[in-house]
Amino acid sequence: MAATLLARGGGAAARALTFGCLRQLHTVYQTVELPETHQMLRQTCRDFAEKELVPIAAQLDKEHRFPAEQVKKMGALGLLAMDVPEEYKGAGLDYLAYSIAVEEISRGCASTGVIMSVNNSLYLGPLLKFGSEEQKHQWIAPFTSGDKIGCFALSEPGNGSDAGAASTVARLDGNEWVLNGTKAWITNAWDASAVVVFATTDKSQKHKGISAFLVPMPTPGLSLGKKEDKLGIRASSTANLIFEDCRIPKANLLGQQGMGFKIAMQTLDSGRIGIASQALGIAQGALDCAVDYAEKRLAFGSPISKLQAIQFKLADMALALEGARLLTWRAAMLKDNGKPYTKEAAMAKLAASEAATAISHQAIQILGGMGYVTEMPAERHYRDARITEIYEGTSEIQRLVIAGQLLKEYRG
Ligand SMILES: Cc1cc2nc3c(=O)[nH]c(=O)nc-3n(C[C@H](O)[C@H](O)[C@H](O)COP(=O)(O)OP(=O)(O)OC[C@H]3O[C@@H](n4cnc5c(N)ncnc54)[C@H](O)[C@@H]3O)c2cc1C
Repeated sequence: MAATLLARGGGAAARALTFGCLRQLHTVYQTVELPETHQMLRQTCRDFAEKELVPIAAQLDKEHRFPAEQVKKMGALGLLAMDVPEEYKGAGLDYLAYSIAVEEISRGCASTGVIMSVNNSLYLGPLLKFGSEEQKHQWIAPFTSGDKIGCFALSEPGNGSDAGAASTVARLDGNEWVLNGTKAWITNAWDASAVVVFATTDKSQKHKGISAFLVPMPTPGLSLGKKEDKLGIRASSTANLIFEDCRIPKANLLGQQGMGFKIAMQTLDSGRIGIASQALGIAQGALDCAVDYAEKRLAFGSPISKLQAIQFKLADMALALEGARLLTWRAAMLKDNGKPYTKEAAMAKLAASEAATAISHQAIQILGGMGYVTEMPAERHYRDARITEIYEGTSEIQRLVIAGQLLKEYRG
């Protein structure tokens, strides 16, 4: 509009408008261009993933093997407690840095990406925000180095999306809480040393009667279900946690009694930025694989990258990926700036997970038969992508969150 005004000789006001717009654009570009510190972090994580994860990702997947050695090295790099302040032995970075790191790690190995994301967002996140000073010192520091990792138990066999219907219960008995019930699908379950678990302390209050607890693992009264045999992210363990008269000290209540649902929802807002970033990494890995193959594979006498049909696929894949990345970085930056980000985190997770599924699907198509076998990583990207549309809120739940926030804003 400013350009049209200038063309019509609109004078000083139009010129001011133009330069104002240019300045604004410059600011936008500056925010999209990563700060130097974040660029360095990105390179460090990319180098780590190339050297430590890419060569073994297929094997870890095949053997359902937890990458213990690599997780320790990530702890030494500060990747397991990225936004935790240095006083609790964290890296003291921001969520944009975290998003970038999860993407790069997931590009190398999506299982390692979710192990990292659960420890950072779902285990350390609620402790940092709702833990007492004493709890922070006890439950954070040992989980920053990779020696120990944590997990988060909200879902149950009878309810996942409807998390407020938790049937696991906690009752106070003297100086102890006694937990009973089963939590389902818990990432890191077999490898974790502690869990943030949600249980009902007052059934009559429905979701407002849920509380959050810190439980060490192993502990008497808590047993593990079998390792789930999954479609993807097979190097991360997933299992039920079964609580049978599991006693923990009264002091292990996280936040106030009845605050559990709020803690879970706020934790998932941040967690969704982590899962969006994991999806970006999977999608980038699939796109890289497709571009490389398209340049090298000959058909009808020339590389298939010369075919417009292939180019259009690559263009659409890159477009979906870049759009999702900008949404993810925006959600992270809003969080870093102390602004509301529930809607934006849901948008980021929805866009990135659906992009990862679509991109990894097309990557297989570009690779043809080679896309369908385990010699190439494309089939693993495809299997790994699918979970990002399910955990930490399915795509349907993200749409409900987005629409709910949108209508709330409209109604004021
Ligand atoms: C590999 C893996 C790892 C996981 N890790 C963890 C973890 O670490 N901690 C944890 O607590 N949980 C974890 N989960 C659980 C995960 O968060 C749930 O599976 C997810 O929230 C969906 O719940 P559900 O499986 O019970 O599906 P359901 O809630 O039964 O949903 C089934 C279908 O119905 C749709 N649906 C449900 N309600 C609505 C609605 N109101 N409107 C529209 N559609 C709806 C869903 O979108 C879905 O398509 C994990 C799951 C998997 C598979």
